[in-house]
Amino acid sequence: MAAWEKNVRKVIPYTPGEQPNRSNMIKLNTNENPYPPSPEVTKALQEVDTDSFRKYPDPTAGVLVQALADYYNVSNHQVFVGVGSDDVLAMSFLTFFNSGKPILFPDITYSFYDVWADLFRIPYECPPLDEDFKIRTKDYLRECGGIVLPNPNAPTGLWKNLEELEEIIAANPEVIVIIDEAYIDFGGTSALSLLPKYENLLVVQTFSKSRSLAGMRIGYAIGNERLIKYLNDAKYSFNSYTMNAAALAAGTAVIQDDTYFKETLQKIINTRERTKKELCRLGFSFPDSKSNFIFATHPKCSAEKLFEALKQADIYVRYFHKPRIDNYLRISIGTDAQMDELIRFLEHYVGENL
Ligand SMILES: *Cc1c(COP(=O)(O)O)cnc(C)c1O
Repeated sequence: MAAWEKNVRKVIPYTPGEQPNRSNMIKLNTNENPYPPSPEVTKALQEVDTDSFRKYPDPTAGVLVQALADYYNVSNHQVFVGVGSDDVLAMSFLTFFNSGKPILFPDITYSFYDVWADLFRIPYECPPLDEDFKIRTKDYLRECGGIVLPNPNAPTGLWKNLEELEEIIAANPEVIVIIDEAYIDFGGTSALSLLPKYENLLVVQTFSKSRSLAGMRIGYAIGNERLIKYLNDAKYSFNSYTMNAAALAAGTAVIQDDTYFKETLQKIINTRERTKKELCRLGFSFPDSKSNFIFATHPKCSAEKLFEALKQADIYVRYFHKPRIDNYLRISIGTDAQMDELIRFLEHYVGENL
């Protein structure tokens, strides 16, 4: 190791899902939305004045913040936006988790949390999910440096009810509790309704999944005005212009087309419920997902082998080589036609491998 390398900030980075791009592939590996964003996005982007690109964008991301504030019926001082919720979450870790005490998140969860904690040198502990992959409330009723919980959890898809979440938030008034609601639109109930009662609560959501804008990179946090001010202070100490002009236009347009949003969600939910029945019929089991993916295992088929076989057939799903979940596949919900093709493949595969 070179002498200078001693002082490098070393991290083991997060591994994003593969992004291969072949015309006939079925891509069910990163929980993207199978449907395009609202046609309003196309219109808004066509109307963007590209001459204005010579100027810096609005550092407050005002139009987007206001659109979100109006949509959720909160003050614009309660909304923070960032380059995907990954940016919002990273900024939140940096801003709020500085006590030196370990922060808490589950052993099986979004695999970016431990990466940010390592990057920022935040100590952490990971209470194990119970044997049904549920988050145990009692594990979070203790002294800690903060809490981050995805709801629904990833990659299990399980949603925790608000009473149990509230118990955790209420028991931890001295630290910030972040609820990562990347998948909340697909069936759970948001913790946003708890905001008036708890100033230590920060709710984070994204445009990447339910709003079909993963490629635009837009995420947001909603919380108490003081929390949002602290987040903005950190942001302005790092990069004032996080939201580019095109993202501002696209994001604002997508929020304003609620009809399309609700229709698309319903289609995905219907496809998910139908896929659950089909998987069940083929002998798979899975936690009862409220998200846009299903975390499935089969008693007779190795998940790793099935993952490879699917890939050979140009069907991409996600496999995690990790303790407790290394015999599961996370399958994103695609269109009905894509799921039919997946089921056809599985039917054949499971039949041959019994
Ligand atoms: C996808 C995802 C995110 C981040 O998505 P962005 O594209 O950065 O908004 C955050 N948390 C969880 C649990 C996710 O699955």
